[in-house]
Amino acid sequence: MIVIAGVQTPEEHIQAIVEVIEKEGLQAHVSRGSDRTIIGLIGSVEPKLAEHLRQMKGVENVVKISKSYKLASRDFHPENTVISIKGVNIGGGELVIMGGPCAVESAAQIDEIAALVKAAGAQVLRGGAFKPRTGPYSFQGTGVEGLIMMAEAGKKHDLLTITEVMTPEYVDICAEYADILQVGTRNMQNFDLLRKLGTCGKPVLLKRGFSSTYDEFLNAAEYILAGGNPNVMLCERGIRTFETYTRNTLDLSAIPVLQQLSHLPVIADPSHGTGRRELVVPMTKASVAAGADGLIIEMHTDPDNSMTGDGVQSLFPDQFADLLKDLELLAPAVGKTFHTPSAIS
Ligand code: PEP
Ligand code: MN
Repeated sequence: MIVIAGVQTPEEHIQAIVEVIEKEGLQAHVSRGSDRTIIGLIGSVEPKLAEHLRQMKGVENVVKISKSYKLASRDFHPENTVISIKGVNIGGGELVIMGGPCAVESAAQIDEIAALVKAAGAQVLRGGAFKPRTGPYSFQGTGVEGLIMMAEAGKKHDLLTITEVMTPEYVDICAEYADILQVGTRNMQNFDLLRKLGTCGKPVLLKRGFSSTYDEFLNAAEYILAGGNPNVMLCERGIRTFETYTRNTLDLSAIPVLQQLSHLPVIADPSHGTGRRELVVPMTKASVAAGADGLIIEMHTDPDNSMTGDGVQSLFPDQFADLLKDLELLAPAVGKTFHTPSAIS
C-alpha cells in the first residue's frame, strides 16, 4: 500500500504518518518526488490502519499496490533512481557505457583493453574474474588474482569497474575490489546471493535470467533492495526463444517495460543478447533508441584467442570506438548525454 501526500506537506506531518505505520510493526519507505511524496508500506495492512492514514493531515490518497515487489516498483518510488559512483551518474540522463573483455585473462590483457575502453569514452571497465561456465571443464576465470588485476587497470585508467560475483562467500572480496557487482543470468534467482548483496555496500547490476519474466526479474531485484541496498540496476541480456541463429533474443521491449514498472536504471547487453559480433553494433543503437540508461559491451584485442567462447560476440577495439562515436550523435536524440574524449578536446 502507498500513502500519497502533497509536495507541500510539512515534514512533521510526514513524520507523524511514518510513526503511525511503524507503531503497527510495518516498514515505511518515504520517497520525495517533485510533485508528491509517497510513503510506501511493507507488510500486511489492516483496513482500520488504511482508514486512519486516510484521515491524517497532508494525506491525499491511500492506494493498494497489488504487485508482489514493492521497493522496485515505480508506484513506491515515482522518480528515477540515479546511482552515483565517483562522479558517474547511472540512470540520470548520462548514457553509461561499460566495456571490456568477457574474462580478465592477464594483467597485460586487462591493462591494454582498459586503455582502449577509456580512450573510446566509456566510463566503466567490465571483466569477469569468476566465470559461470556451462561446462565444468571450461576455463573458470582467474579468480581473486583477476579481481586485483582489474582493480589496478581501473585505477590506472580512471575507469569504474564491474565484475561478476557468483556465490555469497565471494561478495565481500568482490566488493572490496570492484565498484559494481554483477549478478549473472544463471544466478538471478540465487536468493542467498541476492540477500548477501543487500548488505554489500556496493551498487549491483542484476542480469535478467534467460527464462525469467519481468515479474520474476523485479522480485529478484526486490531481494537486494529489501536487504537495504537501494543501488540496483536491471540488465536485459537476452532471453531463450525458439530462434537458434542468435545465441539469445535481446528483448528490446524489456527496456521501456522495466522503466514503466520500475524506477531502477536499465542497462542492455547486446553482446550476450545476440552472441554475434555483427549484431552488437545495431542492437546497441536499438537499445539506446529504446531508452536504455547504459550498455554493457564485450570488447577484446584478440577475440579469436579469448579464453571464453565469447570472442565471437566481442567487438574489435576500433569497432567499439566507432560505435561510441555514433552514440554521441544518437544519445541526444533520445534525451541523453554522452561524450567521447575526441569531442571534449
Ligand atoms: C558475462 O557478462 O560475461 C556473462 C557471463 O553474462 P550472462 O550472465 O548474461 O551470461
Ligand atoms: Mn561473456
